[in-house]
Amino acid sequence: MYQNSLEYAQKCDAQDPLKKFRDAFHFPKDSFGNPQIYLCGNSLGLQPKKTATYLQEELKDWAELGVEGHTEAKHPWMPYHEFLTQSMANIVGAKPEEVVIMNGLTANLHFMMVSFYQPTPKRYKIIIEKDAFPSDKYAVESQLKFHGFDPKEGLLLWEPPQGEELCRLEDLEQLLEKHQDEVALLMIGNTNYYTGQWYPIKEITQLGHQHGCKVGFDLAHGVGNILPKLHENGPDFAVWCTYKYLNSGPGSLGGVFVHERHAQNKDLNRFAGWWGHNKSTRFNMRQEFDVIPGAEGWQLSNPPILSMAAIRASLDLFEEAGMENLRKKSLQLTGYLEFLLNELQDDRIEVITPKNPEARGCQLSIQVKNADKNLHQKLTEAGVISDWREPDVIRVAPAPLYNSFEDVFEFVERLKKTL
Ligand SMILES: *Cc1c(COP(=O)(O)O)cnc(C)c1O
Repeated sequence: MYQNSLEYAQKCDAQDPLKKFRDAFHFPKDSFGNPQIYLCGNSLGLQPKKTATYLQEELKDWAELGVEGHTEAKHPWMPYHEFLTQSMANIVGAKPEEVVIMNGLTANLHFMMVSFYQPTPKRYKIIIEKDAFPSDKYAVESQLKFHGFDPKEGLLLWEPPQGEELCRLEDLEQLLEKHQDEVALLMIGNTNYYTGQWYPIKEITQLGHQHGCKVGFDLAHGVGNILPKLHENGPDFAVWCTYKYLNSGPGSLGGVFVHERHAQNKDLNRFAGWWGHNKSTRFNMRQEFDVIPGAEGWQLSNPPILSMAAIRASLDLFEEAGMENLRKKSLQLTGYLEFLLNELQDDRIEVITPKNPEARGCQLSIQVKNADKNLHQKLTEAGVISDWREPDVIRVAPAPLYNSFEDVFEFVERLKKTL
């Protein structure tokens, strides 16, 4: 069905119902002023053109209103995070009460573990996937240590079979059986940043819960990419950042999901702050902590409005495009990339991402035998912005919101020349 030609790629673009969104973004240019082929939205999403306007609006309100902006700004700062909640909830498939934007990703992971990693002397182990993102690994290791456990014993890795790259559910089940009654938490990065594998959220959650564990996901590479359906699939918590597929700018705030079943539980351990306190009495100042039900109750600080303005600019685009539509296009776009890579018929190339489209997001991780970082350098010189992971993997992530079929076609042409 796919065809290996520029005409075909352009025809797909012409028929793409989401094609107008490409124009809503700034594309980095090479030294000759030509737009680059940007396939790095898994690392840092592009800047929406309207982000500047959203930021200017807050700067203007701050200049003209000073502290009054908390209540009088066009988008008042006091409840500002609420303007992000509905569209964020739509993207991750959650109820609004289950979602809040706050802090950085790794900080949120720690705050979630304060509540959902409550080890006992017997049940204290944490399972993560092998090749987890380093920050996640450091976070869980340090939590183990914080509670007085040795990470060498307390940290269990869900590993792929020998010689393979992808994890299998049956191995996770075996690991849980082997450490029966010892595992307190399953914390999985989804999708995996290296292989692009989308682990089944529902099945993992069920498995974890059957074995008496809490289950959380790090959706840094999943949010705005896959359809995690968090409420329905039922994990206890999830965390993510907004600067990758969600295009909200370098180091922007992260997001948190806490399942409804924990919304009213005031007895959960948590590290509290005044922004998690009852909104109607927050400014009376002298009261006992009165936690807000739901995810908002985990907030600590009054948030950086400029970062939230950038998030709002991007979420407005997602809201307009619709996550289901984006996923639909993503399946076609990444399918086209896979097709063209196969057409190369080059034995040096192997895609390590799952072939099953339901087990991956938009990213394909291309392993190139005997390649080194030089290859990536050459691709960059050829105007392709992709991402290199040692030892030999190029990660490319066609983002359905702004990438085109022509981008994908051009990328493979340039890769072919570079090889
Ligand atoms: C990008 C990423 C991070 C980065 O963490 P920050 O706290 O935002 O710096 C952590 N974990 C995963 C899985 C990531 O993909």
